[in-house]
Amino acid sequence: MGKEPLKTVIIGSGPAGYTAAIYAARANMSPVLYTGKEPGGQLMITTDVENFPGYPDGIMGPQMMEDLKKQAERFDTEVKYELIERVDFTGPVHKLYTEAGEEIEAHTVIISTGASAKWLGLESEQRLANNGVSACAVCDGFFYRGKEVAIVGAGDSAAEEALYLSNLCPTVHMFVRRDEMRASAIMQERVKKQKNIKIYWNTETEEILGDEVVTGVRVFNNKTGEKQEIPIAGFFVAIGHTPNTQIFKDWLDMEETGYLIHEPNSTKTNVPGVFVSGDASDHVYRQAITAAGTGCMAALDAERYLGEVGII
Ligand code: NDP
Repeated sequence: MGKEPLKTVIIGSGPAGYTAAIYAARANMSPVLYTGKEPGGQLMITTDVENFPGYPDGIMGPQMMEDLKKQAERFDTEVKYELIERVDFTGPVHKLYTEAGEEIEAHTVIISTGASAKWLGLESEQRLANNGVSACAVCDGFFYRGKEVAIVGAGDSAAEEALYLSNLCPTVHMFVRRDEMRASAIMQERVKKQKNIKIYWNTETEEILGDEVVTGVRVFNNKTGEKQEIPIAGFFVAIGHTPNTQIFKDWLDMEETGYLIHEPNSTKTNVPGVFVSGDASDHVYRQAITAAGTGCMAALDAERYLGEVGII
């Protein structure tokens, strides 16, 4: 006789995944959590988290993820450092396949696969990736201390990363494609006040320059057409994220942008027994606390489903 299907598999290891695991484990659902390629998710590339309730002095992102993992494991969560590469939601028992080809069967699946950084799509950006081009100032900024750098983007991420870089680098050249920023008022104010952040309005990147490593960037003003080359050593991209939902495209309803669709006031997807939490279905709030909240909801919805189908 084959192995019994698992009660719950959680895919993803950000705040949504670990919170789902804590709730599922405490409800005797014996969850197995697959971390994916980037255990801990986006908070692993963040420094201080100051807006998560309960930490009056803030907490470092990686520390928070370590604590969440410990809390999930303290109960009955099994954490597997593997990537789920393919799923088969024909049902009623769901099938998942790891990168190594292992087949896993589960009655319920909680998707918490999050989102990943977007790129500009330039050939030079790809060619010079990790040789001066980065999508994470907090991870890579240290390598460029004392050097000129540029950042593209105008949202809260770009603002946060520009401020971070401005503490390491003599000048941060910030390219904003419109004549205003999308970032929150407080972040914009901080960026504008910081003397060594030079904002270029209506400015887009034409090419990142350099053979082996980044040596400069050519930008153009999209109003006047004027071009200029700026010598830099580091080029940071902070233009938003894409949800990690490609493996579900044949099975689950999603928006054009790839964000998964769930029922209102619920984490239910269009497939019974499959639930979604965190940034994989949220392009509006995208916060650690909201991801954690929906992780909790997904575990409660999965528990209810297991009760309804007579598994627990
Ligand atoms: P956003 O989607 O908010 O912003 C993306 C930015 O990149 C926009 O300014 C956009 O320009 C620009 N952009 C997109 N594509 C291009 C391109 N091809 N060339 C040049 N510029 C481009 O993403 P963020 O990652 O900044 O933020 C995501 C969410 O997370 C937001 O809700 C944000 O508030 C939140 N957040 C909160 C933080 C906090 O509270 N501490 C920190 C970081 C993020 P345009 O404006 O012209 O569209």
